[in-house]
Amino acid sequence: MWKTFFFITLSLALSACQGPTDLNITKTSEVSESGFLKETLKVKRTTVKNGQGLFQAMQNISIESGRALELINALRDEVEFTKIKVGDILEASYGSEDNLVAFSFSQNPAEKHVVNFNKKDMSWDYSFTEAPTYWHSRIVEGELRVASTLQADLIEKGLSRSVTAEIVNVLLCKINFRTHARAGDRYKIFLSERMFERDVIETKVLYASYEGRRTALVEAYFYNDEEPGSTYNAHYTADGLALIRSGLRYPLSRLHIRSGFGFRRHPVTGRRTMHRGIDLRARNGASVHAVARGLVVDSSYNKYAGNRVAIRHSDGSTSYYFHLRRKAVKKGDRVLSNQIIGRAGSTGRVTGAHLHFGFRESNGRWIDPMTKRMIATPKLEGERYQRLQKQIEETKGALQDIEISKVTKYLLAQIPNGHIFYQSRDLQKILNDPLSELLVVDESDSSDNKISDVDSSMSI
Ligand SMILES: [Zn+2]
Repeated sequence: MWKTFFFITLSLALSACQGPTDLNITKTSEVSESGFLKETLKVKRTTVKNGQGLFQAMQNISIESGRALELINALRDEVEFTKIKVGDILEASYGSEDNLVAFSFSQNPAEKHVVNFNKKDMSWDYSFTEAPTYWHSRIVEGELRVASTLQADLIEKGLSRSVTAEIVNVLLCKINFRTHARAGDRYKIFLSERMFERDVIETKVLYASYEGRRTALVEAYFYNDEEPGSTYNAHYTADGLALIRSGLRYPLSRLHIRSGFGFRRHPVTGRRTMHRGIDLRARNGASVHAVARGLVVDSSYNKYAGNRVAIRHSDGSTSYYFHLRRKAVKKGDRVLSNQIIGRAGSTGRVTGAHLHFGFRESNGRWIDPMTKRMIATPKLEGERYQRLQKQIEETKGALQDIEISKVTKYLLAQIPNGHIFYQSRDLQKILNDPLSELLVVDESDSSDNKISDVDSSMSI
């Protein structure tokens, strides 16, 4: 059940007009809690097509560019539009006078970012709706065959391209597959999948291992920081070394891109301009860090960039930090990687506090900083290291449980809110846990069988 909306579908009218074929127009009425019909709404729905940006997708459902800009600004702090992908769902609700009253954006069928027009304040009010989902765990393991690759194997076993790329990139830190992969090498991947009805809508790679004739056993564990959305969330070895190749450090401790790199409509002028960097959400006063060691080549004020700092790095590339409330370094200073160089703010021509972060190669070319892999820290230390060790124990425990389940073959526990399975080292604990919903499958019943494919997939 959706938490905030209750619609009754009155009729379904197919669009006869031009435009994308999947555009649905539905007439709905919102019913207030007392049961009175408030207003008849016309809902237009579309999905993002290949090659489309957000503005074009919004045009599919008759949102003109001025209005589109307003909506994007209202959603910018909640949605990372740089992660927009083909298939994302947009919905516009129009009132009786064809006035836009609500807009929603969804990247998966379970979640909706909604803005409703507030007539009193003439502004857009944000809300988030979420349908119930659950996490389940799965192991994907196998052996490389002659002329196959880990990548091809994982895709064949049903992993998405992005999850496969994540796994391969992590293992590449330790293994040169081109020279060292051999038929017969073994791999094991432990996934936590977030399910909405029958669909996987999110995947976490909790563990990945690879062991081959020419490679030692390599194991990667996912570290989940206490702070949601932390830049420390990544894969590490059991010793706490980050498995990220040649990364820059992050300029902020949490990352949310408000505006990406490249051509865009400027949030203030509305004109199409080239954005030579990315805008990161940052509260006023948040510490800003140097992404690599280097020499401060600029620390000044500019009416557009506000307080700005530029750092030249040893390879000749330069990183830029704009709109700072306060600068903590001056021209000529040498800074270390991750050193605080200032505080985020809203100086210069901006709509609100954020950090503009730019990166220029030694040949003068501006690049998207996010195309450089970034790293929170090369090694976890202190409390974070302790937390990683605890999570490694939990992961190992869960892997053991799955091995036990494979042998006993009759006990499957589906845990709706997930994560409980980490602690479920002994099966009795699962039985006692009121949150777990036990599915005891009769071994003789092979008809509906999750249990028949225990080799590649297992719910615990
Ligand atoms: Zn910017």
